[in-house]
Amino acid sequence: MTGSDRPEGHRMDPEDWAAFREDMHALLDSCVDHLASAAERPWQPVPEGFADAIRLRDTPGSVLEDLTRVIMPAATGNTHPAFFGWVHGTGQAVGLASELVAATMNSNCGGRDHGAIHVEREVLRWLCATAGLPDTAGGVLTTGTSQATIYALCVARFKRFGSTVRTGGIAALPPLRVYAGKGTHSCVKKALQVMGHGDAALRTIALKDDVMDLGALEAAIAEDRAAGVVPLAIIGTAGSVNTGTYDDLSALARIAHSADAWFHVDAAFGYWIRLAEAPWCTLADGMEHADSIALDGHKWLGVPYDCGACLIRDQSAHRATFSERAEYLAPQADGLAGGDWWPTDYGTELSRGFRALKMWTALQTHGATRIGQVVTDNCRQAQLMGELAKASDVLDLAQPVVSNLCVIRPLHGDAGELAARLQLSGEVVFSTTMLDGKSLLRAAIVNHRTTRQTVRDAVAALEHAVRSY
Ligand SMILES: *Cc1c(COP(=O)(O)O)cnc(C)c1O
Repeated sequence: MTGSDRPEGHRMDPEDWAAFREDMHALLDSCVDHLASAAERPWQPVPEGFADAIRLRDTPGSVLEDLTRVIMPAATGNTHPAFFGWVHGTGQAVGLASELVAATMNSNCGGRDHGAIHVEREVLRWLCATAGLPDTAGGVLTTGTSQATIYALCVARFKRFGSTVRTGGIAALPPLRVYAGKGTHSCVKKALQVMGHGDAALRTIALKDDVMDLGALEAAIAEDRAAGVVPLAIIGTAGSVNTGTYDDLSALARIAHSADAWFHVDAAFGYWIRLAEAPWCTLADGMEHADSIALDGHKWLGVPYDCGACLIRDQSAHRATFSERAEYLAPQADGLAGGDWWPTDYGTELSRGFRALKMWTALQTHGATRIGQVVTDNCRQAQLMGELAKASDVLDLAQPVVSNLCVIRPLHGDAGELAARLQLSGEVVFSTTMLDGKSLLRAAIVNHRTTRQTVRDAVAALEHAVRSY
């Protein structure tokens, strides 16, 4: 074994720092080249021999070279300007810098008193202010909206039932219900399953004009109430995953308030529309009334995966839901164990990475104005895509374009098959969805590299694929 040649205390550091520096400069050059030429790098199938090339072996290899030559080219492709699938953020070049510095610092952001914790607080302050929440609101950064949704609903449950939930679990609780529009993201179901309530605790409300039908919601709450079911929370969607629509958040807040229910907003990507030009920014009006908001940094803002946030109006309820300090985590007035705000008190994680740095870097580099311009561009591009689909003799627009999503119906051919062909050709990545039993192509544009020309080329490629189907 050659690794054991190195003396104790140096076993995992480079043998030769000068050589390491040189290799790292070369690696960084490869990364910058990769991003600078993102438009030439669509998704491609994982190459043959990949499994063997990445097989973990007991003998040290040329790892830095493997990273850039073998692994980097086998990416998801969401750095490409014509990647519109699912809701994948495209990333930001400056993310390279924050990831490198975060890896260098290797901060454990569960708590204690060090710079990373202050950065996270500052990011949360900005996020709350931009959402329109009061200064007293807070939150915690998460892996994404899925985790943030679990946290938010746990706080809602704690606020409603108090510490009984923490001591006795759910056995002592009455049946409860969470309301969300049809088409709400599957993370809501998952959250209720994880929390022990199961799918039965979710009541999906019919849509009217593509958003939650308020009359149907009120009727459902009244019906549940009469049956002894507690209305725990109403979930408003700001940017629905299928069609990019926004619930009437102000109305939902009023209904939640009068039903004594928690008002949560799933703003995974839609949060950022608050920074767009009118009329788009007004879509998220009413978000400021939320008791909690789940959002993602890694989608529309382009923070490198993964980074989301859970924002909570009532910070003390948030802390009371999760804080659990064992003796080895006791705070101290001074020293590293000081600091009065520890993220571990606001979620399930103890050890956690410096997600805040990539979010802070993204916000500080571009600022609200430029981020808003990207969001506005993407909404205009979705509108253009919709117009092109409507004008086409082989395509139709399946759903009005409200924000940055466009759903297209090919007049012949199978949507899934067409999407796969275009993905394999490297021209454009659409994903698919089902609306009213029909399989459709779906573009969610959360991509600062996309231009109007990208959209024209993508639609032309789709038309060609439909014609030659
Ligand atoms: C992506 C998404 C989620 C889930 O967020 P993750 O960050 O993937 O966990 C929830 N809701 C909506 C509307 C989404 O687009």
